[in-house]
Amino acid sequence: MDKVEKSGKMPVYLDYNATTPVDDEVLTAMLPYFSHRFGNASSRTHRWGWEASSAVDHARSQLASLIQCKSEELVFTSGATEAVNLAIKGVFHAYHRKGKHVVTCTTEHKAVLDVCERLEEIGAEITYVGVDRQGTIDLFALEKAIRTDTVLVSVMWANNETGVVQPMEEIGRICSEKNTLLFSDATQALGKMSLLPRRTGVHLLAGSAHKMYGPKGVGILYVSRLNPRISFKPIVDGGGHENGFRSGTLNVTGIVGFGKAAELAGRVMESDAERYLYLRDKFETGIQNHLTDILINGHPERRLPHVSNVSFKGVSASSLIKSLGHLLAVSTGSACTSASLEPSHVLTGMGVSKELAESSIRFSMGRYTTEKEIDTVISWVVEKVQSARSDNPVWTLNLGT
Ligand SMILES: *Cc1c(COP(=O)(O)O)cnc(C)c1O
Repeated sequence: MDKVEKSGKMPVYLDYNATTPVDDEVLTAMLPYFSHRFGNASSRTHRWGWEASSAVDHARSQLASLIQCKSEELVFTSGATEAVNLAIKGVFHAYHRKGKHVVTCTTEHKAVLDVCERLEEIGAEITYVGVDRQGTIDLFALEKAIRTDTVLVSVMWANNETGVVQPMEEIGRICSEKNTLLFSDATQALGKMSLLPRRTGVHLLAGSAHKMYGPKGVGILYVSRLNPRISFKPIVDGGGHENGFRSGTLNVTGIVGFGKAAELAGRVMESDAERYLYLRDKFETGIQNHLTDILINGHPERRLPHVSNVSFKGVSASSLIKSLGHLLAVSTGSACTSASLEPSHVLTGMGVSKELAESSIRFSMGRYTTEKEIDTVISWVVEKVQSARSDNPVWTLNLGT
């Protein structure tokens, strides 16, 4: 359980929302499929093919049991980004007779926002529903946004930057009253909390292995196939794999790892969550005890327990991260947008000022985070923030107000 520490001692890794290491059990399950079990799951004429195909079946049932759906309702993809594309574009094209209107939320992952933007180029109309100061979607605005020609509502289950968990049950109820399909990018929630899409009224759901201790390059799309039976158009054609919904030779090794990761998550996610709650409370209390003018972003309770998004007033997050760089791996937010210099759209969407958004850091811990690491990180952060503030003439003049 000390893989991350072992892998080079320093720095401490607190960027689990960007990606997670592959669990040892997952790696062990995958290894034979790199070597002697190398078959193509579509080869129907020999044992290599049968072996691969039964391994894929097994992985599919492991994932199905995690979210309590049927195996036939799962489509393997190259990752959550592809699953999001498949869900939104696939439904948009399949239901064009109903309309061209899509409703989503301002704090979604770029995977969702960029797909919506792309659809706008071909005539889609997108409504972006806002969130409150704690990051929760405005349910009243959501309800008003849905129209008779709305083909899809897309709301993420849990936010990657803040960990805020959306009220999916209410959202599901609103969508079912309005007779609209609901898709959820659940990439950060899958394997971290219990997700029951059918019971929640979620018709499509995307997830990714590498956010839950599986390998990179494999994702999943859940699509309700019964009551209601969702139809959608594929975006990758050629060979008709995955019931025609996603062509291409299956990434058997990755899929085996994903299945194992799902089984493992089912076993440990509850106890992991309890431990994170303890560690995060220690972290947040620890920095609050030593520093003034810090702000924790996101709903105090409805938030994934391993995520802490903190604004340090008067401190530039990017220079703070740089000064901690050799000690601590953290990020300002999404790894997918950190190439851009814009302040986080998630935080500004919540009403956080541009300046404060640029003073915010996401700490996300995981299965291998230790209490000792958290203690160390507290002292590093406190020291660096104090020294950054004392170097900031404006801050010193205003005495921190
Ligand atoms: C990581 C992430 C994605 C992208 O997943 P990939 O498998 O890396 O393509 C999409 N949405 C959210 C919320 C994520 O955190």
